[in-house]
Amino acid sequence: MKVKSAKNQYEMQDPVKQYPHPEFPEQSQPVPGLAQEMDPKPDHGEESYQGFGRLKGRKALITGADSGIGRAVAIAFAREGADIALNYLSSERPDAKEVVALIEKAERKALALPGDIQDEAFCFKLVDETRKGLGGIDILVNVAGHQIAQKSIADITTAQFDETFKTNVYAMFWLCKAALPHMPPGATIINTASIQSFAPSPQLVDYASTKAAIVAFTTALAKQVASQGIRVNAVAPGPIWTPLQAAGGTFPEKIPEFGGKVPLGRPGQPAELAPIYVLLASQESSYVTGEVYGVTGGNPLR
Ligand code: NAD
Ligand code: MG
Repeated sequence: MKVKSAKNQYEMQDPVKQYPHPEFPEQSQPVPGLAQEMDPKPDHGEESYQGFGRLKGRKALITGADSGIGRAVAIAFAREGADIALNYLSSERPDAKEVVALIEKAERKALALPGDIQDEAFCFKLVDETRKGLGGIDILVNVAGHQIAQKSIADITTAQFDETFKTNVYAMFWLCKAALPHMPPGATIINTASIQSFAPSPQLVDYASTKAAIVAFTTALAKQVASQGIRVNAVAPGPIWTPLQAAGGTFPEKIPEFGGKVPLGRPGQPAELAPIYVLLASQESSYVTGEVYGVTGGNPLR
């Protein structure tokens, strides 16, 4: 089914029919996957997102900015007036090149900083390079994530467990730690949790645990830095049509039905997440901190 949506993001319409719904073609990709290779192509707001100056002059570091939710956030932030430092894995360059071009088309700075955030030293370097390249950092968006479904705990290797925790939890810790000393009052951090933080699936024992940790981390850190004028929130997506799912996050045979069980009957598109990240990054959410914002297609978080 084709995405007919794009230009309609601001028109009143039936959200059930707004975007593709099951069945989808069965598909799988090697980790981390490319948005370019997905069928149907995800909508990251390339043709639809309109900026209103809500992030004018801000300097944002976004991980996982090449594809999926991170790409939608990068496009939206740039159109809202922010300069962007983008992190992704070097194998994702084909996706990242498209995002850089879109940011530049919005007449904002795009600083491409590929590398593996499982490495502590690299995370600190990422913040340093962002500060040098953009002249500071006042928004940190942790979007990068690793998710591999396994039928049994017996199939989760220590290597997988490490990779999932390093990417989803340790990197967030390192990046927050590196960025906070340089963030001015009004700065914001947004982490990416999941419906899995609250309603863990049997095939995602390791991943769901990281997502629960992200919620506790966000809540505690928000309380800790509130008096410095820095806000910390999380977004908790439900099933979203991104390469993470096609690259092992969901079993290939489950892809045709992906997202079909939520009340809205379809997966979300990355473009449907971006406005929430914009809200949480901008001054419009000045009294919101330590919050977890669900974008789930109707399944309650708690
Ligand atoms: P995605 O594959 O487009 O994005 C994930 C990104 O993580 C990749 O593009 C990659 O750049 C980055 N990444 C992975 N390992 C990395 C590493 N070691 N170093 C640097 N970067 C690395 O998929 P997405 O669904 O947009 O995922 C974004 C976030 O949303 C993740 O945190 C994911 O857990 C979360 N999430 C996704 C869904 C969903 O259904 N797609 C649901 C809930 C939460
Ligand atoms: Mg990617």
